[in-house]
Amino acid sequence: MDISRSEQLFQQSSRYIPGGVNSPARAFKSVGGTPLFIKRAQGPYLYDEDEHRYIDYIASWGPMIRGHAYGPVIEAIQEKVADSTSFGAPTEIEHRLAALICDNIDNIDQIRMTNSGTEATMSAIRVARGYTGKNKVIKFAGNYHGHGDSFLIAAGSGALTLGQPSSPGVTPGTAQDTLVAGYNDLASVEKLLQANRGEVAALIVEPVAGNMGCILPEEGFLEGLRKLCDEHEVVLIFDEVMSGFRLSFGGAQALLGVYADLVTYGKVIGAGLPVGAYGGKRAIMEHVAPLGPVYQAGTLSGNPIAMTAGYTLLKSLFDEPAVYQRLARKTEKLEQSIRPLLEKAGLPHQINRLGSMISLHFTEQPVRDFESAAAGNNDTFKRFFHLMLEEGVYLPPSPFESWFLNDALSETDLDTTVAAIGTSLNRLS
Ligand SMILES: *Cc1c(COP(=O)(O)O)cnc(C)c1O
Repeated sequence: MDISRSEQLFQQSSRYIPGGVNSPARAFKSVGGTPLFIKRAQGPYLYDEDEHRYIDYIASWGPMIRGHAYGPVIEAIQEKVADSTSFGAPTEIEHRLAALICDNIDNIDQIRMTNSGTEATMSAIRVARGYTGKNKVIKFAGNYHGHGDSFLIAAGSGALTLGQPSSPGVTPGTAQDTLVAGYNDLASVEKLLQANRGEVAALIVEPVAGNMGCILPEEGFLEGLRKLCDEHEVVLIFDEVMSGFRLSFGGAQALLGVYADLVTYGKVIGAGLPVGAYGGKRAIMEHVAPLGPVYQAGTLSGNPIAMTAGYTLLKSLFDEPAVYQRLARKTEKLEQSIRPLLEKAGLPHQINRLGSMISLHFTEQPVRDFESAAAGNNDTFKRFFHLMLEEGVYLPPSPFESWFLNDALSETDLDTTVAAIGTSLNRLS
């Protein structure tokens, strides 16, 4: 496959940008080779600089849930942008997006927009600390909450891919306030709460984990967290940056019926523009400045173009919940079609799936936490990934990332994908 334009662009980018990319997950570090430079995208397809077409299973890591260049979003942006790109003053569209969310997700009374998921999670724990007057935070090994210092302890996603569970530059003081529990392991949470009685401000969790592949919460896990947080007066934060507006309009909360005190959003909420948000119960959100004493701000927060894009996409998802059924059905079809192929190839494998999130792990054991995810055969994944690219299918370039389906994928695209998987597995074994 001739990818000379990408190779040339990567070389030039690497001179000026660390590692040639502005976010590590894009760099193909865990699969090797040259990251493809993308020129444009339409519906379910990505086109690289050398004009190859790929069926896209990254969806910009989530936001392209309706497919790329979704007409209503593009039109809304084009119309709005003529009125200038930012004012540094409030605009009407900000509260329309906030109202759409608060009026339709049970436990969100108020919400504050940020520019990324990272900002949302950083702010959420600051508010939880301000609200409770306590300092420590519990997170789970392999969960990723963006690159805030407090979260770069046993983190998933790009941090996991690089094999640096915690990053240099994070002070021991910060690290010491972050306690790490095991995903799907309530006993480990209980132990931390006992050992740090009266000191834990917040517990943050991906209610459906998507940053060590897709990992489902086992029965009773989220309910157990809810109960423990209530008992110990800990603010329960669901990080729905990935699962929010993807698993259902109300995210994992609405799908699974367990509700947090604070929720963070990102990815889908901005329709591909830089948006994050955190929201929750009024009693907690009242602590946010200027209403309360916990400071949090952003020059471009609630940017009118980003809000317009986010509102248009979210409103379309709210008005047409059938999108979620279609996505789930397509993802189920994908799972059911590839299972026999994997069995025929005789490769040890696990497939985890919920809604439009799915991941394939080359391992015998069920994948339910960080250890079992890390046990997968990375070398097999690496070869599989490159064979799939050659077949015109763009999977996330790491075994520790979930695949995301989009509504623009046709049955034909799915059949093509399944055929590509069959061919790739044959060549692997
Ligand atoms: C992507 C992600 C983040 C970070 O969001 P950014 O917009 O990349 O800063 C936080 N939490 C989860 C669960 C994510 O998937």
